[in-house]
Amino acid sequence: MRRSGPLRLCAVRWGWTIAACGYLGGCGADPGVVVIGGGPAGLAAAIEAAATGQVVDLYEARATLGGSALYGDAVTAIPSDAALERLDTLGGTPNAARTRFVKQVKPDVVDWLGAMGQRWRETPNLVESDVQLVAPVGKGESVVTFLIQAAKTAGVHLHTDTRVTGLERTPDGITVHTEPGGDAHASAVVIATGGYAGNLDRVRERLGLDASVPLLRGATSFADGNGIDLGVKAGGVERLPGQVMLYAHGVPDPNNHDAAVMFVDGDRGYALDTTGAAFNDIRSPRGDSGAALLARPGSVAWVIVDQRAIQELQLWSVELRAMVSAKTVAKEVGVHAGDVETMAKRLHVPTEAVQAGRPAPGARADALHPLGDGHLYALPLRLTTAKSLTGLQIDLDGRLLDARGTVIPRLYAAGEAAGFAHPWEAVHIDSTMVSGAILTGRAAGKATAEWRVGTEP
Ligand SMILES: Cc1cc2nc3c(=O)[nH]c(=O)nc-3n(C[C@H](O)[C@H](O)[C@H](O)COP(=O)(O)OP(=O)(O)OC[C@H]3O[C@@H](n4cnc5c(N)ncnc54)[C@H](O)[C@@H]3O)c2cc1C
Repeated sequence: MRRSGPLRLCAVRWGWTIAACGYLGGCGADPGVVVIGGGPAGLAAAIEAAATGQVVDLYEARATLGGSALYGDAVTAIPSDAALERLDTLGGTPNAARTRFVKQVKPDVVDWLGAMGQRWRETPNLVESDVQLVAPVGKGESVVTFLIQAAKTAGVHLHTDTRVTGLERTPDGITVHTEPGGDAHASAVVIATGGYAGNLDRVRERLGLDASVPLLRGATSFADGNGIDLGVKAGGVERLPGQVMLYAHGVPDPNNHDAAVMFVDGDRGYALDTTGAAFNDIRSPRGDSGAALLARPGSVAWVIVDQRAIQELQLWSVELRAMVSAKTVAKEVGVHAGDVETMAKRLHVPTEAVQAGRPAPGARADALHPLGDGHLYALPLRLTTAKSLTGLQIDLDGRLLDARGTVIPRLYAAGEAAGFAHPWEAVHIDSTMVSGAILTGRAAGKATAEWRVGTEP
């Protein structure tokens, strides 16, 4: 891959060794592949592109590789054939090619990582019995560790602290502007920069929410959508831009008012809104609790927990993935009361509404639980951005498409940057998950070989 910067250096094939051989064709090497973003999608794309014998440079803006996967559990859904059919239908027109692609989650993600050493454990799926859930031992961080190792073994040049700021198409390739580092010339570029759910301004704009609707950031701040903009500037299209998944199971982080502390688990506690009505959507089977909160503009929903639930709840602050003590959160941002009557007064709801939590008649077992006696805490639930479901439109090989659906030569996208706009539009198996990121990343990485010098279409 050729680089030209103020020093006119080029780094070719020797990884971190920079050869000062000038830019006037002195290096004489094939321009290689550039991957933008070092999350699971980018790493998977880089591994596959390198496997085709190409020189691959991966640029990651942060000091650390791994992207958002470092902060999550990377729980992965393996749909049965029946689930695939159901999900496919949900997404609109059934599409055999898409279904075949999604079927690859087991062999191409779970088994692929398994061959690298990743161990998986089954995790119960209380919602859809025909979708098997597995979680990597060591969570997302472990998956990232295996991917980085595989990328190094494949000879990928990993550049951290380097942000891609622009793409320019040239007759024989793509010029990639990086900071710092100057320009690089590539035969093909994979945009794997993640989604935009960490960019509240963009979420507000896309959803048409004004500043009066309280919104918390439940995604990493670097998921800001800048890579989607790069793709759009290069001729790509952002499909269905108003699709953002909002959860309600976030409470304000007492240490970072811009971000949420997310509920991870905890099976005791129940929720009600400011009228005292049960707010059944918290951690609901269909999960769209954000929409429920949005449907009651200006309202606050509370989750009420007792001392024991406080211990059972796992809460983490989105970016640090640090466990935040539930007690700290309750003390800092919640309402505390020694008994039901006091709690009801403090929340301005009828006593029966609070009492309903012990237990509520007809309550669903997975959502409402009897509270114990003693101290109660009410935590204010807020609309929390979880992930953007849309992104750059691509085909099943990760090729970027323009507004007419025509392939844009040399440009690819994968992972959350391609988002729900990926040709399958099915819940749970989209590219806005670690598994989808890896699947789409691998596809795009392999496809870049079509621009290898001597084999261009
Ligand atoms: C708290 C949390 C929990 C989650 N839990 C799960 C879960 O249980 N299961 C699951 O499947 N998924 C989960 N996810 C989602 C999952 O982590 C993401 O879907 C996945 O990481 C997306 O991968 P990606 O490679 O597309 O993007 P990212 O992981 O976001 O990586 C994108 C990378 O690109 C870099 N970048 C951006 N712009 C540039 C630029 N211009 N130049 C260079 N680099 C750039 C970013 O710094 C980042 O490192 C969770 C996410 C979060 C935040």
